[in-house]
Amino acid sequence: DHPVYAKIDGPIVMIGFGSIGRGTLPLIERHFEFDRERFFFIDPSDHNKHILDAHGYELIQKHVTKENYRELLTPLLTKGGGQAFCVNLSVDTGSADLIALCQELGALYIDTVNEPWLGFYFDKTKGPSERSNYALRNMTLDLRRRSPKGLTTAVSTCGANPGMVSFFVKQAALNVAADLNLNTPEPTTREEWAALLRQIGVKGVHIAERDTQLTKQPKPRGVFLNTWSVEGFISEGLQPAELGWGTHETWKPDTAREHDDPNAAAIYLMQPGAATQVRTWCPTPGPQYGYLVTHNESISIADYFTVHEDGRAVYRPTCHYAYHPADVAVLSWHELFGAEGEVQKTLHVLDEDELEEGVDELGVLLYGHAKGAYWFGSQLSLEEARSLAPYQSATGLQVTSAVLAGMVWALENPNEGIVETDEMDFKRCLEIQGPYLGPVKGYYTDWTPLHNRPGLFPEDLDESDPWQFRNFLVR
Ligand code: NAD
Repeated sequence: DHPVYAKIDGPIVMIGFGSIGRGTLPLIERHFEFDRERFFFIDPSDHNKHILDAHGYELIQKHVTKENYRELLTPLLTKGGGQAFCVNLSVDTGSADLIALCQELGALYIDTVNEPWLGFYFDKTKGPSERSNYALRNMTLDLRRRSPKGLTTAVSTCGANPGMVSFFVKQAALNVAADLNLNTPEPTTREEWAALLRQIGVKGVHIAERDTQLTKQPKPRGVFLNTWSVEGFISEGLQPAELGWGTHETWKPDTAREHDDPNAAAIYLMQPGAATQVRTWCPTPGPQYGYLVTHNESISIADYFTVHEDGRAVYRPTCHYAYHPADVAVLSWHELFGAEGEVQKTLHVLDEDELEEGVDELGVLLYGHAKGAYWFGSQLSLEEARSLAPYQSATGLQVTSAVLAGMVWALENPNEGIVETDEMDFKRCLEIQGPYLGPVKGYYTDWTPLHNRPGLFPEDLDESDPWQFRNFLVR
């Protein structure tokens, strides 16, 4: 009784079969018609091979590298004819090069992160700006600028976040506009969306997330635990903190730096994101601290919703991630930084059987408008995730269902070239994802980052505007 959305008439090549790959497999099997003989999986590790065995697929146990990707992928993507689909769910695989190859071969493509090739994140010869997501996003956008229109669709960074949260921002904006009785028509262009956010009076957007999933066993010392890629989280957590920089901001911390391009929509801080905390709000905990870890959507959302006049940005919302990961991941970071940055010997992604209970509350917090702040998102529980699809936690299903939505959208729109999720049909994508997201709800709050402040000690606050980054940043 699961809808089959489309037929994939060429091979499917999945790169990386980790926590997201294994969760995506059953969704592809449910929702697409395809040739089982031409579904290929590439991963250097065999830790999830038992799942492929159970489903009757082979594992190609190799690394996809900058040196071998053409030779390795070309025969797979062209085997037996038809239009192939490359589903990149791996770390350390250069997204821009893979997209270029797919477009050359006429294959569709999707990933969940603008991934660089192995070594980028920890390259000490690169400065912080070069190691940023701003730089990674630009590699993909540069390729788009160079490629002719009408090439095959490559969906860039379509997971939960980046990805689904861009769909949420638009739905949240429509909800707030309706509640404010703005009576504006639904936007159809980027410019109109940006104008709507400006009209609502949104000063900023947090990707506000609280993962309350609990492990059955306490975290042992010397092990980094998380509910999704530990390698991915460590890489991004040690990149500089980055945020889309709003036009209403009047103050920057001393660690703030700008990229060379004066029109850049984002700035970065000279400190790792996982060591940078901000005040934010989610429905279950209410006020909480979150990590300002860099993400593609912080930049793409700020960029997408910028209003330009005479070539100048006159309106842009601040946008950043404010992430309280699972408690064991918070402890893991504390241990890592306490050990002078020495990464734990064991990195482990928790699977659904190692978790006891909890919810991944992942949404967008639109703040600074006449109704204060509005959180809109998914409150998927582990229990519900288990009942909806195999091989994944709540976190996993929010990501894999976004991959499903992105794949359907690509098959329905196969000649759009490189697209970011901000540019896709958010309603269609949420329609496909919806059944896998648990409760998707909106909440208003009168909370501001000035709540209960100053406390017992004097603080550097801007009391004239609660929504300044100066008030959000934990110092
Ligand atoms: P994971 O660490 O569980 O799995 C990654 C897999 O890739 C591993 O099995 C690993 O062996 C394999 N791999 C490593 N190098 C490879 C190579 N060169 N070629 C092929 N395979 C290789 O990670 P995950 O949780 O499955 O996440 C996968 C990707 O998705 C990561 O890039 C992660 O950052 C991203 N992600 C995005 C979102 C989002 O919401 N946008 C959420 C979660 C994960």
